[in-house]
Amino acid sequence: MNCPVCQKRLYVKEMHGVVVDVCDEHGMWLDRGELEKVHSHAKEHGFAEGFVDSLSHDYH
Ligand SMILES: [Zn+2]
Repeated sequence: MNCPVCQKRLYVKEMHGVVVDVCDEHGMWLDRGELEKVHSHAKEHGFAEGFVDSLSHDYH
């Protein structure tokens, strides 16, 4: 899929066990389910809340 902002093609990256779409300029794009997965994974493994806050992009 493409970035909703700049329409460039997103590349896929695996982060904390979740595959996310990334734009070079606009960061990560996650749908609701993916965000939840990253949240729970980050909690389990003790990642800082700030990291999760940086993943706040949402399609919906
Ligand atoms: Zn973009």
